[in-house]
Amino acid sequence: MLPAAESYEELVARFRWRIPPAFNIAEACCDRWADGSGRVAVVHVRPNGPPERITFDALRSSSARVAHVLKAQGVGRGDRVAVLLAQGPEAAIAHLAIYRIGAIAVPLFQLFGPDALEFRLRDCGACAVVTDDVGLAKLDGVRDRLGDLRVILNADGARPGVLSLWEEAGRARDDVPPLATAADDPALIIYTSGTTGSPKGALLAHRVLLGHLPGVEMPQELFPHPGDLFWTPADWAWIGGLLDVLLPSLYHGVPVLAHRMAKFDPEYAFRLLAAHGVRNAFLPPTALRMMRQVAEPGRFGHHLRSIGSGGETLGAEALEWGRSAFGLTINEFYGQTECNLIIANCAGLMPVRPGSMGRAVPGHHVAILDAAGRPPAAGEPGVIAVRRPDPVMFLGYWNNPEATAAKFSGDWLLTGDTGVQEEDGSFRFIGRADDVITSGGYRIGPGEVEDCLMRHPSVAMAAVIGLPDALRTEAVTAVIVPAPGAAPTPALAEEIRGFVRQRLAAHLYPRRVVFAETLPMTATGKVMRGTLRQTLGSGAGPADP
Ligand code: ATP
Ligand code: MG
Repeated sequence: MLPAAESYEELVARFRWRIPPAFNIAEACCDRWADGSGRVAVVHVRPNGPPERITFDALRSSSARVAHVLKAQGVGRGDRVAVLLAQGPEAAIAHLAIYRIGAIAVPLFQLFGPDALEFRLRDCGACAVVTDDVGLAKLDGVRDRLGDLRVILNADGARPGVLSLWEEAGRARDDVPPLATAADDPALIIYTSGTTGSPKGALLAHRVLLGHLPGVEMPQELFPHPGDLFWTPADWAWIGGLLDVLLPSLYHGVPVLAHRMAKFDPEYAFRLLAAHGVRNAFLPPTALRMMRQVAEPGRFGHHLRSIGSGGETLGAEALEWGRSAFGLTINEFYGQTECNLIIANCAGLMPVRPGSMGRAVPGHHVAILDAAGRPPAAGEPGVIAVRRPDPVMFLGYWNNPEATAAKFSGDWLLTGDTGVQEEDGSFRFIGRADDVITSGGYRIGPGEVEDCLMRHPSVAMAAVIGLPDALRTEAVTAVIVPAPGAAPTPALAEEIRGFVRQRLAAHLYPRRVVFAETLPMTATGKVMRGTLRQTLGSGAGPADP
């Protein structure tokens, strides 16, 4: 979607949205490439045997058959159909089938437990679920309580009260053309990560895919190039997997590598990248932090030409590590389920400042606003805001007009994140509004301190929070997962305090250092600092050494 340009400024000047009035994701990501040429859409890396190559032709015919099965079960336009499947051809086929009939896809993370599934299925009133035996085992305990749920299609075969996806599809016709949906018609409900409370269902229109393209193309260095192959360990059930990788790739007719990874294995990730010649990767910061623990990354080799990262602060430390491990600049990007990929780096077109999320992606009006809704002086913090209309912006929270209204101030969508815009136009993330620490009169973003902590050789993971403190309002507190072999002793805590004090500033160093075996994380790998504040603030959880 981005034009050719020599510089970021030229890119912005030449960019125009092209959003047709009628648009259907299934047509754009599948049928227009299904021309009988055998173009590959998905490279499915299975646990055993050679990779399976699924063509656009096969995706078209399978997704049309599944669309027919859904229709035969009475599922139609606007109905919510959940997809509870790990990365793999079935998940892609289910999505395309749902868009084809104008229904609304609700991707659900395969590792969710029964309560998480029940909450989301009930909230969106899903009438059907496409899943496999793994998902079915979790649904069994909750399906009787879900009055709207009528149809379960199982990719692993028929079970009592459950239809076999492939048997039904095998009997169905494969000539269901994509419905002529309007670009503004709803296509998806994606639940937010739930980092700061109950997850919210963001209702997204078919146009959301077009809205994502510039924000994928920049960090993936103006994707696509001939020979590209895209992979992410992020599940396709969340926006980073689905709309930053799977659907943009298919839109461009580029193959996606699919692999079911129950648990992220950093060494295996290096091997996978090398063995299959992956050219483009989206590696969330948590994945990168784990990969950073693997010794001598150079020994694996790789074919990457672009790496994007986002969803959490990347940090200068990870940026440096990326350059030494891959010889590439990891391009950070920023967004949220409600309005994604609005800020990004693109090392080929602009200088990448360490610690910066990048510049506004062409087509998005991004600004920092103060409490009065005005831009503060350059370099002063405020809330990151995006002006509507914007093709990538959500239609609203599902069934929650109050929350939708509260998300906006006039035409500005308020992200709830605090950031700074530098003089060169780049944006720096300070923190989620709740995570910003007020200490001794300073406003401190946890990211900067965490970045510094990560440089200490005995630190594997770090989260920084503010805990109530009579003297300073809040005391900067670091929760540390020690690196393998490092002992969580008072001496190490003292050393870490001194390390930050010396490198950052006296007001930023953690007065308290607490060791933990793991950090509480969302399914999408985001540190839940609010949970840490609660457990540590109440005296529960890990104790000081
Ligand atoms: P919930 O809204 O349910 O609390 P969530 O906001 O974590 O969960 P997502 O929409 O998945 O759910 O995540 C978006 C958020 O992730 C952003 O609002 C921001 O706080 C954070 N984020 C995204 N990109 C970056 C980035 N590059 N640097 C720092 N934080 C980021
Ligand atoms: Mg959010």
